[in-house]
Amino acid sequence: MFTHRFRQLAPYVPGEQPGDRQYLKLNTNECPYPPAPSIAALLHRFDPSRLRLYPDPTMERLREAIANRHGLRLEQIFTGNGSDEVLSFCFYAFFGADLGTLRFPAFTYSFYPVYCDFYEIPYEKVPLTEAFEVDLDALRGPGPAASGIIFANPNAPTGHFWPPERIAEMLKRFRSDRVVVVDEAYVDFGGESVLPLLDAHPNLLIVRTMSKSLALAGLRIGYALGNPDLIKALFAVKDGFNSYPLDTLAQEIGTLAVAEEAYYRDIADRIAATRTRFAASLAERGWQVLPSRANFVFARRPGVDGQAVYRTLKAEGILVRHFNPPEIADFVRITIGTDPQMDRLLDTVSRLWP
Ligand code: PMP
Repeated sequence: MFTHRFRQLAPYVPGEQPGDRQYLKLNTNECPYPPAPSIAALLHRFDPSRLRLYPDPTMERLREAIANRHGLRLEQIFTGNGSDEVLSFCFYAFFGADLGTLRFPAFTYSFYPVYCDFYEIPYEKVPLTEAFEVDLDALRGPGPAASGIIFANPNAPTGHFWPPERIAEMLKRFRSDRVVVVDEAYVDFGGESVLPLLDAHPNLLIVRTMSKSLALAGLRIGYALGNPDLIKALFAVKDGFNSYPLDTLAQEIGTLAVAEEAYYRDIADRIAATRTRFAASLAERGWQVLPSRANFVFARRPGVDGQAVYRTLKAEGILVRHFNPPEIADFVRITIGTDPQMDRLLDTVSRLWP
């Protein structure tokens, strides 16, 4: 009854969203602050009869707003149902056995190998440096064999960030006939975008999300920025699956959200300030905290197993994320919430692991 392809499928396991009790959720990098107030106003005045009609399949107003926000042209923008969908279209269009082997860091967004298996893309996991940094030289690789490169910057779950100048050096030495995807899901929390590199590198594609810094994870909007040929390819893939991936309401709210720059700048800055304070306080308590430019930190308490940290905190009503691979199994990834939320975690940590 089931295809061979289906029987081989190893789906991505997202961070848990349990309903058994009220948790302090620091496990999926959601934003602790609400979306911009103008979005609540829009929801109040939204006319439900508009839902009778299909949404705009070209998502033009939303793309126009994103183009304005980033100083780009409409043809340089693709939008999709969460950056997960945008990424899956990238894997479909740009990476595959006929082009070689895709390279990505050994520890990065754990959906990448899932897409590779889904689309039967050969891949190579490139080890991180000893400091848990993405190794850009190793990623570029020795010869011309790579089918492409993908990595997150800042990286997840480590939080490490490379400035655009360093990525430019790598791009200059990498073949221009293969695509390099930089996943900037967390760039607003203190990173710096590779956006200025787009003109010089038509093989560079940036993927962004409104789920983190725009506090809209429930709406599912992701987007890609890049040269019009790559964007056209993503539209072709979209139209091979589902021509209406973003509903009318999502398009409307997303259009408003990208224009609310001051509001979102402020909450991203607040989260970055909380991160700095929280990381220092955790380090004072004997934890190793990797430097992070994202809205999470990756941390371990020497001598304590990460799985035990996860389980013990969960019993206390606090959810963090743990990953099983042995090289990172001592760590937990902790999303940055509000100051009072992080204080609660710090108090709990002090009590449990004095
Ligand atoms: N990229 C990275 C690096 C992520 O951590 C996530 C969040 N799980 C995503 C992309 C996907 O985000 P979304 O589908 O909500 O846009």
